Amino acid sequence: MRILVVEDDLLLSEGLKRVLASAGHAVDHVATGMQADNALRNMDYELAVVDIGLPDIDGFEVIRRLRLRRSRANVLVLTARNGVEDRVRGLDLGADDYLTKPFSLMELEARVRALLRRTSLPTGPVTVGGMSVDVRAKRLKIGASVVELTVREWALLELFLAHPGWVLSKDQIAQQLVNHDEPLNPNTVESYVSRLRAKIEAANVRIRTVRGFGYLWETENG
Ligand code: CA
Repeated sequence: MRILVVEDDLLLSEGLKRVLASAGHAVDHVATGMQADNALRNMDYELAVVDIGLPDIDGFEVIRRLRLRRSRANVLVLTARNGVEDRVRGLDLGADDYLTKPFSLMELEARVRALLRRTSLPTGPVTVGGMSVDVRAKRLKIGASVVELTVREWALLELFLAHPGWVLSKDQIAQQLVNHDEPLNPNTVESYVSRLRAKIEAANVRIRTVRGFGYLWETENG
């Protein structure tokens, strides 16, 4: 996968490049918003990791222009600020996920893995069983009710959505749910699955336990 890193902090960008390159990606780096805009116009990237605070045009503007061109590149926003408004603004402009600085490179790697896995997911709202799922906007509705999911429950839901008809083992799920530094113990996968299962059962979506193998996602309409 080809990834563009947009970051003016050189020390951090060195770390980002190293981690992403060692995960097998082709990584380009630019340090200003204008350079980012140019790079994104001239090259197809699967993912752009975009810092918000840049010397010229900011990360928001880079994302806005990218989405105006209807680019399908995934965007992971890096923000130094803690404000919810920044994250919401980034997501509203079409970013797919965000990380608040400081973050660990391990967490970045996990988010990147999740984003690239999601490339196969629908970009708008879809109906699954009796629920409407908008992966980009992180909105889940059953009938008229909005259902709140935690970060890990979303990751789990997306994992199932990306693998319809597959039995997913606890180990596979644990690897994909690594987040916030702690590697997930496969034994705790069970409790995440139970929580998600409880939240979506009203939509006639079932997460069936396949004894000895893992979990299978089933809906009434397939
Ligand atoms: Ca910066």
